[in-house]
Amino acid sequence: MSDTQVAVLPSVQQFLDRQHGLWVEGRQSASDSDKRLEVFNPATGQVIAFTADASAQDVDRAVMSGWRAFVARSWCGKLPAERERILLRFADLVEQHTEELAQLETLEQGKSIHISRAFEVGCTLNWMRYTAGLTTKIAGKTLDLSIPMPQGARYQAWTRKEPIGVVAGIVPWNFPLLIGMWKVMPALAAGCSIVIKPSETTPLTLLRVAELASEAGIPDGVFNVVTGSGAVCGAALTTHPHIAKVSFTGSTATGKQIARSAADRLTGVTLELGGKNPAIVLKDADPSWVIEGLMTGSFLNQGQVCAASSRIYIEAPLFDTLVSDFEQAVKSLSVGPGMSPEAHINPLVSRAHCDKVQTFLDEAQSHHAELITGNRGPNGQGYYVSPTLVVNPNASLRLTREEVFGPVVNLVRVADGEEALRLANDSEYGLTASVWTQNVSKALEYTDRLQAGTVWVNSHTLIDANLPFGGMKQSGTGRDFGPDWLDGWCETKSVCVRY
Ligand code: NDP
Repeated sequence: MSDTQVAVLPSVQQFLDRQHGLWVEGRQSASDSDKRLEVFNPATGQVIAFTADASAQDVDRAVMSGWRAFVARSWCGKLPAERERILLRFADLVEQHTEELAQLETLEQGKSIHISRAFEVGCTLNWMRYTAGLTTKIAGKTLDLSIPMPQGARYQAWTRKEPIGVVAGIVPWNFPLLIGMWKVMPALAAGCSIVIKPSETTPLTLLRVAELASEAGIPDGVFNVVTGSGAVCGAALTTHPHIAKVSFTGSTATGKQIARSAADRLTGVTLELGGKNPAIVLKDADPSWVIEGLMTGSFLNQGQVCAASSRIYIEAPLFDTLVSDFEQAVKSLSVGPGMSPEAHINPLVSRAHCDKVQTFLDEAQSHHAELITGNRGPNGQGYYVSPTLVVNPNASLRLTREEVFGPVVNLVRVADGEEALRLANDSEYGLTASVWTQNVSKALEYTDRLQAGTVWVNSHTLIDANLPFGGMKQSGTGRDFGPDWLDGWCETKSVCVRY
């Protein structure tokens, strides 16, 4: 593999070199705290930027800025068509900065520049425009009532959808821009204010996008960004008394903590949590579709995808052929920095996460599991884990039940589809699943019987703004996307009129 890398744009370098503050009241705002957080390039382990480490007081300022804008109705009081126009302008500005945002994402997160361009920015644009369109489709219902008193009285009743207030968005590090905008856009389309906290590992793109939001005409105070640790900044945000809803994506453990504190204040929550997602390959599946679909489903973004296929159950007659095909495919993947256009597998997001993924593999190795390993990353630098297949792992291994969130996938031989279904559903998680077959009856039966929020047939990890997404069991609660997406960002008010 040649080591030619994409040249960093001057605007990207200038942004990295800046003294970053928070984004509050539509402008950069210094933190109360002198503490700074380092941002690392996962491909080199070098520090590339510093951001503010927000205190609880900083968070309070940001939430109150959102609250004042909400009460002043500077955003929710605009005509829906005006909000839609501004949000579409916002999307246009993001599109004009595609390369800059893609480079920032690759430099802080590690993923391939191709994925940053196509997914982080390209998909973000799809979702931004879809959600902007929902702004003008918010609607209640008219309702017939049967109130019998006073005698002869008549009533007209209807429901109105009203923005819920100030929303907290907590964003993980795997798709910082895309997942960040999955929180920002429905909040803004519904007329809410938002305070968003990116992961301290990957804070840069949301800081940049906040500037574009102001340029697009989103009023000051409506869109705020606080950067800082989960323990201080995240906790202060999700427990703030003026927060009406928390939209969280991340680990199940943190999600539960947020749900517990939200229950005390009766705050709404949407939780998009982890997954240990099964794929069932029946003996009549097309092997070329399986390899194409499940290599992407398992290794996209180095497996740091909540929806990734991480347990593949293969009916016995196809098992040996597919293991050999997977081996060939894995060994053909080149491993290198995200800024190198030829690298298929890139570093993991952080040293801590890289070490965590390695502990799963160390345990498997010490129990003599059969591991098929692809190429190694460059020597001596970066947070690389080689793409790895684990063949028929023993059920006692952690990697059979826990979310690895790395480039590691289990290939398991099953006697038949019934055994595959039993194993697939035997998990505390229920985010996504897939079935691979050319038999339509089997496909439909398995979509019914798989316990997951999304089930694909002959594909995996493909999402769309118009298709609701979310988890069953320990994978979360609530659904994002789809025509009813804004319901979660609105209160329903009932109006009853006697005449
Ligand atoms: P976390 O759940 O800790 O982090 C997700 C987000 O929550 C980050 O912004 C984090 O901030 C923030 N956060 C952490 N603690 C709190 C808190 N007490 N209150 C409010 N916000 C908080 O995930 P990790 O980064 O630790 O990743 C651990 C595992 O979670 C991964 O290995 C993977 O299995 C899973 N995961 C799943 C994701 C998904 O898409 N479903 C995404 C990311 C992780 P900060 O990062 O600054 O600490």
